[in-house]
Order: sequence, then C-alpha cells, then structure tokens
Amino acid sequence: MTKSLNYEKKNGWLHAADEKEIALQFCEKYKDFLNHACTEREFCKEAEKMAKAAGFVPMKEKKSLQPGDKIYSINRGKGIMLSVIGTEPMESGVNLVGAHIDSPRLDLKQNPLFEDGSMAFLKTHYYGGIKKYQWFATPLSMHGRVILKDGTELDLSIGGEDDDFTFTVTDLLPHLADEQQMKKVKEAFDGENLNILVGSMPVAGDEVKAPIKEYILQYLHDTYNMEEEDFLSAEIEMVPAIKQKDVGFDRSMIGGPGQDDRVCAYTAMEALFSVDAPKHTAVCLLVDKEEIGSMGNTGMRSRFFENMIAEICFLQKAENNISVRRCLSASKCLSADVNAAFDPAYANAYEKNNASILGYGVTISKYTGHGGKSGSSDASAEFVAEIRKLFNDNGVIWQTAELGRVGVGGGGTIAQYVANLDIDTLDCGTALLSMHSPFEISSKMDVYMTYKAYKAFLAR
Ligand code: MN
Ligand code: MN
Repeated sequence: MTKSLNYEKKNGWLHAADEKEIALQFCEKYKDFLNHACTEREFCKEAEKMAKAAGFVPMKEKKSLQPGDKIYSINRGKGIMLSVIGTEPMESGVNLVGAHIDSPRLDLKQNPLFEDGSMAFLKTHYYGGIKKYQWFATPLSMHGRVILKDGTELDLSIGGEDDDFTFTVTDLLPHLADEQQMKKVKEAFDGENLNILVGSMPVAGDEVKAPIKEYILQYLHDTYNMEEEDFLSAEIEMVPAIKQKDVGFDRSMIGGPGQDDRVCAYTAMEALFSVDAPKHTAVCLLVDKEEIGSMGNTGMRSRFFENMIAEICFLQKAENNISVRRCLSASKCLSADVNAAFDPAYANAYEKNNASILGYGVTISKYTGHGGKSGSSDASAEFVAEIRKLFNDNGVIWQTAELGRVGVGGGGTIAQYVANLDIDTLDCGTALLSMHSPFEISSKMDVYMTYKAYKAFLAR
C-alpha cells in the first residue's frame, strides 16, 4: 500500500493516547497555579517563587555567567524574564518563548468611590477587548496594589470564590429592558455603567452627607488603614471570581478566566524549568500590557528585553555593543499566545480548513492581523518549516490556523514587536473557546502539547 500524501490534523487524545495521564496531571498543576495568579502582578510573584524553587537566582546577584546558570529579572513587578544560559556564546542567539500575563478585566478609575440610590459603587475603566455584557451580573474579585500615604505597600486580593463576600456589576431586569434589548449589543451595555457594587449599609448620624460611602471608607480604614486619596495612586483590577474548573463529563477541558494568555505563560515557564544546559541560551519572557497594545515600560514594546539581553552579554564578558545586536539577529522566538478554537455555534466566523480544532494540539499561526494580514508579523517559510520539523521530531501534536475567516475581524500578538528586533518569530499557542470572556475554555491535551512544543524549542 502506498503512503497517503494527504495532510490531516491529528486528534491528540488518539495520537498521543499514551501521554493522556501525563497531560491530565500537568493540567492539575496548571489550574492550581492560575487560581493563585489572577493578575500580572500575582503571576509575577508566583513565577518568582517557582523560579527560586527551581534554582533560579536574580541576575543582579551574578558577577559572571556560565553555561547552565539559571537567572531571572523582574520588570516592575509586572513582567519577568527567566533564562538558562547555553553552552554557545550569546552572539549565536537565544531561543525565546514570549507570552503575556495581563488579561482583559475591569480596572478601577483613579477616583472610583461614589454613592447613589443608597448604595456604594466603584467606577471602572475596562482594560482590553471585552464584550461588556459578559461582565454584568457575575461575581468579581478585587486585586491590586495600593500605596498608602506613608509609603506602605499593600497587595489586595479580595472576594475570590472561597472568600465570604464578593463584588458584582448590576444589570437591568428583562421586565424593564425593552428599550435596552432593541439596541445593538455594542450600544446596549454602556462602559460607564460597569460600576462595582461594594455596599449598602449606612453609618448612623444625620450630618453625614453620603452615609453608605462613609461606611465603606471607615471599613477600608479599619481593615487596610486606607483613605480615599489612596485610591488615586492605586492600581486595582476586578477579575471574574471564578476558579479554573474541569469542563465536561470526560473532564477533557478547563474553563476559567484569563487563560489568554496565562496558558501560554505557564506552559512556557514550566518548559524553561525543564531545560538544563541547552546549546543556545533559553529565555522565557513574560510581559504585561499586550491586551492594550504592548505599550509602556512593562509591555513588549519597551526596551526591557533588549536591556536584559545586554546584561547577559555583559556578564558573559561580551562587553561590546555589537554582541547584543548579533545576539538579537541570530535569535529565534515563539510568540506564545492563544488562538481561537473552532466553535460550531459560530461556524461562519471561521474557515474550517484553517481554524484550530480543540484537542488537535498546539496551534502555530504563520501570520495573524486583520483585513489583508494588516498588522501581522508573517513568519518566513524557512522558520515555519524549521518549527514544523522540530515538532514532528519531538512528538508534538500541532496544527496551523488563522484567526478566523478572511474579513471577519482579526487580532495581533507580541510577535510583530519581537520580529521588529530582527528576530525570526512565529506565533504558537493554545486554542481557546470563548476567548476574552470570564470563562474561557481550553483542551487539556492542547495545554500539554503547548508545554511540549515550548520544551522542544527551548532545549535546543
Ligand atoms: Mn493573548
Ligand atoms: Mn487577548
């Protein structure tokens, strides 16, 4: 019989059946990690703990670097770069897996607290691309950093699923929503109405002008020593108060918030921890601000990555600026971000031959973008072929996909900003259903194959 020349995607549950138990076990750790790392700051903190346990040390404590050394640098508490030094010099390039650890959410405004209708609320400004209706009438938890007047730093994590209270945004009852329901979905839910309900109990006394607000201020003062002015410098995020859960009778999937892009960030980090003395220095870079355009000094467009590469070159005694430039030119990157899994309920948004299918392994995307590939880093045939061979040689179940049907929309990742540094870059990550919603769905097989893909790439 002649071998078929057909290409067909492979279902991971069938083609990697012997790895099923390993995949399921891996995802238990993944769920647990995500439940403790709800924001970029929390992710960064947990990542540092894990890195230390795996033998990584802060780069600034190093006087020089040898092959096999494991180091990390934290960027303002919101990003982290972890590296395992390779046997080859830096000028031969690094293998980089870059992911983002920020997710769509509701940020508190700087002056958020007000009282109306005998209730107290906090005003928000949403962060990233959300379908606003998904954030009404659902429990939300509060996370973030407050700096008190005297400089005391406070990390908040309040109202998660196991706590005794939570927060929410109210929605209009259907009985009175005729007018709202006639509007376009985009217009029916006003971003300015995404106010967090935080109290309804007044303090006593006729002279208090806003007694419900006053109650909240007294509570915050008694509990955290906070004053209202402390909100003005704070960074507080509201995220769905939902833990990561198994989905389906077969428990083959995981549902929960913020898997974009913590699924790729977590698998990238675990992949790096499995690497010992690679030929090329292996780097896992976890950045912030991807969901709002990768801006700012914690986003991928900042110089942080280049600066850290320069530091490593310096610690390897390559004290020449050209070494940094040569290192970047010779480097290779998997831009680790999620893709959209095919959803039969919305089949028209996809083109099935070029869509990710849940359970068919990690997804690579030669390009992303929208409206004629606009805003995309289009990886070269050579680099895609190199990664394809790497995955085939290492038993990685993988598939290719575009983000949706031509002309229906699109999206981008950090790929273009990494590629701008003269680095070969390919998008590679896990496919999700209900992306950017408070309950995103991944396949456990795909999560595991994402880890396996990054591991094969970083171990080279
Ligand atoms: Mn993403
Ligand atoms: Mn996203």
